[in-house]
Amino acid sequence: MKADPTAQRRLLELAGLDAELARAQYRRRTLPEATAVEEAETTVQGHRDAVVRARTSVSDLGREVAKLEQEVTQVRTREDRDRGLMDSGSVSAKQMTDLSHELDTLARRRGVLEDEQLEVMERHDAAETDLAHEQAELDRAETALADAVERRDGVLGDLDVLEERRGAERTEVAKDLPADLVGLYDQLRARSGTGAGELVGGRCGACRLEMDRSELRDVAAAAPDDVVRCEQCGAIVVRTEKSK
Ligand SMILES: [Zn+2]
Repeated sequence: MKADPTAQRRLLELAGLDAELARAQYRRRTLPEATAVEEAETTVQGHRDAVVRARTSVSDLGREVAKLEQEVTQVRTREDRDRGLMDSGSVSAKQMTDLSHELDTLARRRGVLEDEQLEVMERHDAAETDLAHEQAELDRAETALADAVERRDGVLGDLDVLEERRGAERTEVAKDLPADLVGLYDQLRARSGTGAGELVGGRCGACRLEMDRSELRDVAAAAPDDVVRCEQCGAIVVRTEKSK
């Protein structure tokens, strides 16, 4: 293939833009800001689960407190009834003794229930404190996640702008070049990642490998408008003033 040496040199500009676009795409795939968002999401999920657990604990204990309250009320009602009977004067001496015994039993029972109620209420209070703590942790984690998302979207937005600009520049450069030359360049780039490299210090700019004597002799002997290819990587070897 033959191509005007100026056009060949402009391939280097195309290669530079393509390299920058490839770096942007790599960056997009490996963003630490995206990893940070994933980590923040995991943290938020962990705190959400903790809040659910704490809330369940508060409601379970709340129910237990209510149940004990009800039991205490039942005992009190029974005590009131027994006292009412004793005060009525309508019961026998035997019944008076029985009722008196029952009142002792009921008082003991109420004491046990009230102690238990107090203990459960304390646990309920502690669970509420725990819930408030977990909720605060969740709020903090959600704020951190929102910040991480904002940072990631900022970087992605910058990459969008960069890719759009370099893409437009690439279109402009490619438009001015011979179609067959760009076609070959694109084909080589699709194969190995780099379509063209500058020959500097006896090295191919695409694969960075040194050319041997005979290859360098062939390159030197080639006409300026010959499209020379690297024997190692196949890329178009562009000769500039730095190649001498
Ligand atoms: Zn090469």
